[in-house]
Parts: sequence; C-alpha cells; structure tokens
Amino acid sequence: MNKRQEHRNNRRAADDAAIAEAAEILRQGGLVAFPTETVYGLGADATDDRAVAAIFAAKGRPQFNPLIVHVPHIEAAAREVVADARARRIAARFWPGALSLVLPRRSESRVSLLCSAGLPSLAVRAPRHPVAQALLKAAGRPIAAPSANPSGAVSPTDAAHVVQGLGEAAGMILDGGPCPLGLESSILDLTGADPVLLRPGGVTREDLEAEIGPISLAGRHAAITAPGMMESHYAPRLPLRLNARAARPGEALLAFGPPPEGEAATENLSPSGDLLEAAAKLFAALHRLDRPGFTGIAVMAIPETGLGAAINDRLRRAAAPR
Ligand code: AMP
Ligand code: MG
Repeated sequence: MNKRQEHRNNRRAADDAAIAEAAEILRQGGLVAFPTETVYGLGADATDDRAVAAIFAAKGRPQFNPLIVHVPHIEAAAREVVADARARRIAARFWPGALSLVLPRRSESRVSLLCSAGLPSLAVRAPRHPVAQALLKAAGRPIAAPSANPSGAVSPTDAAHVVQGLGEAAGMILDGGPCPLGLESSILDLTGADPVLLRPGGVTREDLEAEIGPISLAGRHAAITAPGMMESHYAPRLPLRLNARAARPGEALLAFGPPPEGEAATENLSPSGDLLEAAAKLFAALHRLDRPGFTGIAVMAIPETGLGAAINDRLRRAAAPR
C-alpha cells in the first residue's frame, strides 16, 4: 500500500491524535473502522439513526439484522439494557472481552431501533482492545459496530482487509495492527430464563457454563439471522399493504417521496426520496403508526436499489400473512 492510497482510504495508525479525531467523526454521525480483540468493527454512533443506517449502506447488507452495540463497561451497557444479576455476574467475569450479551432493551434507551432490527432486545459488548476502549471513552456514547466487511465477505482481522473490503466507506480506518483473537465474539442470549449461546466465539461455552451453569446452543430455528425468527419477533399488529398509491379509508399512509396529489402522508420516510433517511426512520415510523386508530398501514413503493433492498425486505416480512 503506497502513501497516496493510504491517504485516500483514511487509514491512520491508531495513536492518541487519530483516536481523538475518530471519536469526533463518530460524534458527527460518520463511520469509523476500528480494531477490537475479535475482528475490526465498522462503528457508528448507536444513538444516531442516520449513522446506523449508513452502516447498512456501507456493508451493502440486503437485510437489517441486529447490530452489536459497543460500550466501555457494564455501567454504560446498563443504561441501554436491563442488566440483571446474572448478566452482571457474567460481565464481571468476562468483560472487557470477546462476549456479546443479548439483553432486554430499556424503554428509555436512546439507541437506534435499527440496532435492534425491531427486536425487543439489544446485543451489547465491552471490547478489551485498548484502541476500542480508548475510542469508546473518547466518543462518550454507545457505538454500533458489525464486522467491517462487505456483506457476505469474511470478517476483517487486519486494517488491510478493511481497506480492501470497505475502502472509502469509512471516514477513518484506525489501524491497530492484526486483531489478537481474530475470531468473532460469542453471543449469549440472556433474555430468557435459560441462557442460549447464539454464536460460539472468543469465549468458550465451557468457560461460560463454569460461571452460570448449563447453556443451551441455539438450534437452527433459534438463529436470529434466520428469517423466520425475525418475522415472529417483530411485525406491526396492523396489516401492511405494500406498493400502495394512496391510503384507503381508515388506513395510515406511510409515504416515501412526495405523497400523491391530494393525499396526506401520516408518516413520511423521506419526503425527498432519500433511502438512507428512510432506513433511519423505518422502525420508529412503523412503531408510531401501529396503533388502534388505524385499520391498516398503506406503504408507498420504495425502490429496490441500495438500502431499498433491506427496507423492502423488512416491509415484506411485516406484511407477510401471520
Ligand atoms: P456482526 O454483524 O458480524 O458483528 O454479527 C453480529 C451478530 O450478532 C449477528 O449474527 C446478529 O444476528 C447478532 N445479534 C445482534 N443483536 C442481536 C440481538 N438483539 N438478538 C440476537 N442476536 C443479535
Ligand atoms: Mg459479520
């Protein structure tokens, strides 16, 4: 990699000055790729809907799967999720580290609903890597970060992988060298009475069981990424009618772009037809419209390009017969 390319790709050695700049980029709603002990993450301010939507756009994800929200410590996590005694015990033993915990979202959490992809839960992790820790503390807010690779590609364990995969999509790529673990975090679901390991990773099941007793493995249909599960977790109670041109009597109109002549949008995902804005508003808009005052939700057509694919995927699931 020559100097010019390095500059163009915003790759910077992760020294104090670069970390401070990266934190500022995050606070302004930009994206920063950063090293953790597991893999490189593509981070955004988790409380900024638009910044989180930009992650999906940068990765070219065809679906809104939930994102792990990174925090410096359990106290920061407990502001966003309900951390009961069991969760605190596990965090005390394994955090900071390669373990993500899925816990119930707090109703007052300001984390974007996109991070939960419509689920009532949120995955949180305190990474151990000193660069990640420094960045989280400097940013002063929870950071949503999936692995910093294009959708479907292998997770990046080196800054060079991030440059190859995402190049200019990140405002800065903090180069902290190769990831010490190079393996994703384990994901432990603590939302139910029985803990479930959703993804094996850096912390072993045996070590987890030594702390809290038996843990079951997620079965095929328990995998959150399985479409069926996502569907059963979140769909508005009201029926959705897709590709609507206008609302019928009693229906709310969820518009995209200017509403048709003589129609008033109940909610507009983006008056200017901006897909990033629409993705950022999608879950909140559906939540607001899903109330008994309406008989259904008429959704205007959304183009299938870019983030539109993920938006339409989510809308089709929500509209599927139950
Ligand atoms: P990555 O995007 O590579 O960091 O992977 C994140 C993983 O965490 C995905 O497999 C997600 O499905 C999973 N995940 C994130 N949030 C949740 C959640 N609230 N419930 C269950 N799984 C989650
Ligand atoms: Mg990934």
